Amino acid sequence: MRIPFRILAAIALFLCLVSCGNRRHGTASSRSAAVPETHGRETVLMDTASFFTVSELSDEVFSRMQGKSFKEGGPVSRQDLRYLKVLHKNLEGETLHGEMVCNKLIADQLRELFLELFRVGYPIERMRLVDDYDADDEASMMDNNTSCFNCRFIQGTSMASKHSLGLAVDINPLYNPSLKHGIVRPSCAIPYTDRDASFPYKIVRGDPCHQAFLSRGFVWGGGWASSKDWQHFEKPWSEFLKRESL
Ligand SMILES: [Zn+2]
Repeated sequence: MRIPFRILAAIALFLCLVSCGNRRHGTASSRSAAVPETHGRETVLMDTASFFTVSELSDEVFSRMQGKSFKEGGPVSRQDLRYLKVLHKNLEGETLHGEMVCNKLIADQLRELFLELFRVGYPIERMRLVDDYDADDEASMMDNNTSCFNCRFIQGTSMASKHSLGLAVDINPLYNPSLKHGIVRPSCAIPYTDRDASFPYKIVRGDPCHQAFLSRGFVWGGGWASSKDWQHFEKPWSEFLKRESL
């Protein structure tokens, strides 16, 4: 059968257009296969992590602490402590620089934990050393300041707090107060002892903050039976004994 030339020409033109179209799409897809995009995303993540650091206490940091959060004769030495620098987001989504002093035993865990909270956008309003408040825990809590190390007793007792060892962290303390023997700290936080109410910066069981600490072996003061300390996460000694027996 003879096929007219103009039909053959039309078929050839059609096949050419289809073929060119596929090549064009193929080129575009492999470009977005993401060599530049993936590379870009990895670069951003790497840069973010570089803002989360752990270091020994510099002379400048230690002089801020002396006679305030750090007291001679306290249960830990300067060499036992580490200085963390992190990023965090507040409720408005702004990125802020934060700092914290903690025990060297949990420094790397906290660095990882705050990086995780930053990446999911978990809000933390403020992270400064308590020394900026003359190590006055009430003043630090009233300012909703997240902190860790402070050489002090457990409220109303003569027992050293886990904060004296740098093994406890208080997160957004104004909105997550402590309630012990009917006393609320900070004293202005009575409305936030109603844990069924809705308000910002509230820690609840299973939220990213609670999960980040519990998955790393911390205990939450909001889960205690006899008193409540919703801001408080601490590392129990049993966690260290467990690690040494591995
Ligand atoms: Zn605490």
